[in-house]
Amino acid sequence: MTFTSMPLAPTAPAPILALHGGAGAIPRAELTPELDREAREGLRSALRTGWAVLEAGGPALDAVTAAVQALESHPAFNSGHGAAVNRAGFHELDASVMDGATGRAGAVAGVRHIRHPVLAARALLTEADPLLLIGEAADAWAKGRGLEMVDNAFFTTERRRVALDRTLQREAEGTAAQASEADRHGTVGAVALDRHGHLAAATSTGGYTAKPVGRVGDSPIIGAGTWADDRTCAVSGTGKGEHFIRTALAHTIHARMLYLGETLEQAAQAAIGAVTALGGGAGLCAVDMRGNVTLPFNTEGMYRGWISARGVFVAIHED
Ligand code: ASP
Repeated sequence: MTFTSMPLAPTAPAPILALHGGAGAIPRAELTPELDREAREGLRSALRTGWAVLEAGGPALDAVTAAVQALESHPAFNSGHGAAVNRAGFHELDASVMDGATGRAGAVAGVRHIRHPVLAARALLTEADPLLLIGEAADAWAKGRGLEMVDNAFFTTERRRVALDRTLQREAEGTAAQASEADRHGTVGAVALDRHGHLAAATSTGGYTAKPVGRVGDSPIIGAGTWADDRTCAVSGTGKGEHFIRTALAHTIHARMLYLGETLEQAAQAAIGAVTALGGGAGLCAVDMRGNVTLPFNTEGMYRGWISARGVFVAIHED
């Protein structure tokens, strides 16, 4: 018997990019129309920046780096300019990137002068070794690579300074538990699937308001706040970093998909559930190898959105 088989035309994956601007969204009751507009415009503009890369056929790694760089420039979000202030009144920034195609990653922690920490993380990914640099050494390394350096005060905004005063006052009064999620959390992150089926993730943060000097959260820890693997998914987290590290959150989502056969949605819900059980705020953006996106959070709101050829979506609370 003879028959002719027609190989199926390989369908190129439909590119998609999703991002978050932190699980510490301003509570609905305090969100003025101006702040709402500012945040949504910031999200849309970062989505378009990342999308321009994907639409041109560029790699997911470039798309997530560009989207996070845009969010780092925006004062509404806790990263780069607009980052949270530590308890000594200055900024220590963390960032990481991971490429799902190669498994390579780069990260910086506790940096004080790199204007775009995500670009330093990206440069480390390219060099491959070392993967993670901290503090002064990371600043010096980035300067040596020609990255833009700024005074630490460049990152400060009036809003973050007020949040620090409010937090320290609450601590003195013993009412710290009443702090809003907006005073507590924030981070930015992006995940993407490109036309070639490759996944990538990037995350950048100022940590949380009034954090101790030298404290490092999950955002620069590969497997905690960031993960990407072409076989499964790309993840960027936001929330109580200590809990993300303890639950290896981003890697756990990948592992649940790979070893348990769970969907992205199931694995992400389980991971958020693990942080909720520890008593912490948590959120994330994630995309799988087929282009499914999930944006779960257990806080009142999370700045978030996605963009694909089908359109753009942005949201802050459960709307
Ligand atoms: N995950 C960040 C950290 O722990 C903060 C946050 O997203 O709220 O540094």
